[in-house]
Amino acid sequence: MKPIRRKKDCRVTTDQLTGQDRILGWTQEEDVLSDQGSIDSATMQRKYFLDCGCDGEAAGRCFECGNISCDICHGRCQGCQKPICLQHSHYIETDMGQARLCGGCFDRISRKQTRAKIGRFVLSLFVERESQND
Ligand SMILES: [Zn+2]
Ligand SMILES: [Zn+2]
Ligand SMILES: [Zn+2]
Repeated sequence: MKPIRRKKDCRVTTDQLTGQDRILGWTQEEDVLSDQGSIDSATMQRKYFLDCGCDGEAAGRCFECGNISCDICHGRCQGCQKPICLQHSHYIETDMGQARLCGGCFDRISRKQTRAKIGRFVLSLFVERESQND
């Protein structure tokens, strides 16, 4: 039996960093002419399992682990814009509210913050000692 019509729908998300499309799921339709002369349609839908455990449409794939999450769990790092799942999201409190970050950006920012804190701390000790010497 030769198919007389074929249709394939793909759901993709674009990785903003690489610019590549990542397939989240697809639907395939096929119409075939049967021996009895009828046109039989067959539809096949492939949905990827959501790693976040939710029920729903896939929204994106984490760049760190490759897990597919729903649109509630899936998000982007506000530092580098990479797509991240819930497990690889780190939240920090900022002046602007809560920010979602990937592991790399979180490390970089928390390291910077620690350094700033140490810097102030060392400076305050130095200033105290200076004033004691007077
Ligand atoms: Zn992940
Ligand atoms: Zn989810
Ligand atoms: Zn990041």
